[in-house]
Amino acid sequence: MLQIKKQLTANKKSKPDENSLGFGVYYTDHMLIIDHDEEQGWHDARIVPYEPLQIDPAAMVLHYAMESFEGMKAYRTPDGSIQLFRPDKNAQRMINTNHRMCLPSLPVEDFVQAVKEIVSVEKDWVPHAEGTSLYIRPFVIATEPHLGVRPSRTHQFIIICSPVGAYYSTGINPVKIFVEDEYTRACPGGTGFTKCGGNYAASLISQVKAHELGYEQTLWLDGVEHKYVEEVGSMNCFFKIGGTVYTAPCMGTVLPGVTRMSCIDLLKHWGVPVSEERLPIADVMQASKDGKLEEVFGTGTAAVISPVGELRYEGDVAYINNGEIGEITHKLYNTLTGIQWGTMPDELGWTVKVD
Ligand SMILES: *Cc1c(COP(=O)(O)O)cnc(C)c1O
Repeated sequence: MLQIKKQLTANKKSKPDENSLGFGVYYTDHMLIIDHDEEQGWHDARIVPYEPLQIDPAAMVLHYAMESFEGMKAYRTPDGSIQLFRPDKNAQRMINTNHRMCLPSLPVEDFVQAVKEIVSVEKDWVPHAEGTSLYIRPFVIATEPHLGVRPSRTHQFIIICSPVGAYYSTGINPVKIFVEDEYTRACPGGTGFTKCGGNYAASLISQVKAHELGYEQTLWLDGVEHKYVEEVGSMNCFFKIGGTVYTAPCMGTVLPGVTRMSCIDLLKHWGVPVSEERLPIADVMQASKDGKLEEVFGTGTAAVISPVGELRYEGDVAYINNGEIGEITHKLYNTLTGIQWGTMPDELGWTVKVD
C-alpha cells in the first residue's frame, strides 16, 4: 500500500468544451510522481500540481530512450460513477516492459492504487459527453544524469491525465491502410512486445510515408520475412476470413493489447472461431480476391475498434465490406464500449470502480 501525499493546486484550470476535446490536447490540474533510487526503492509518492518537470539535461531518458509507458482510460457511467477497465492488465504489462528495458516496476497493486488515487483527485475531469473519457498515461523515466550506457540508478514513475473526445465524432468510418514492406516495427528478440517510446520513434517514418501516399495508417509485417501480418499503426489487428477471426500471436513482436485480449475473450464466449496462428499477407489478399475477406479491424484503448475499409499491398488493393463496418466488428465495438461506459452489464468482471 503506497502512502500518497497530496498537495492540491489553488489555481484550478477551467475545463475545456467536452464536445471538442480531441486526443491528448488538454491536461488535468495534477500529476502523480513516485521517485525511485537503488537505496530507497520507490519512495515519496505524491500528487502535485501539473507543471513542467525539472530534469537534468544529462538524464539518461533524454539520450538513450530509457523509458516505458502505459495507456488506459477512466470512464463515466450513466449513474455518474467512474470506472477503469482491467487496470491490472496494464500494471502487469508495464512490469513486462520494464523488465525488458532494465527499468524498475511498481507491484500490480501499487500501480492500480496510484491510478485510482490520481483519477479520484481529478474526478471532475472525467467528461460526461457520450464517447468521451479521461485518458491516463503512466510512464517511467530514467532520471540519472549519466552519459555512459548502463541501467540508470534513479527513476520517476509519473501519471498524467488528459480528457479525450469521442474517437468517432463523425461516426465510425473505416480507415485506409498501407501495408509496409520496407521498414520494420519489431523483430524477434527486440522490443515489439513493450510499450516503449523508442518503438514509436522508429515507426514514425512509415506513418509519414503512408500519409504521403494517401493512407491513414501502416500495417506492419513481421520483421524477418515481411510475410506475416502483425499490427496496424499502434493497434492490434484482426481479419475475418471465411468465418474465422485471425489475429497475430503475441510472441515477442506483437504488443499484447488489453483490447485485443478482451476481443478474443468475447469472440470465444460467442462461439466465433478465433485463430492466433501467423497469417501471411498473401493469404489476406487472396481471400479478398476470392470474396472471403469479410472484416478487418484494429483494436486499442484509444479507438476501441477501428474498422479497415481498404488495404494496399504492393500493387494490389483489397476493398473490405464495401467500406462499411462489419457485423462482428460492430458487435465487438458495441459490447466493449457498453462494458467500459457502464451501459451494459459487466458479466466478465472487467471493470473496477474509482471512489
Ligand atoms: C498500446 C498498443 C496497442 C493496444 O493496446 P491496448 O492495451 O489495447 O490499448 C497495440 N499495439 C501497440 C504497438 C501499442 O503500443
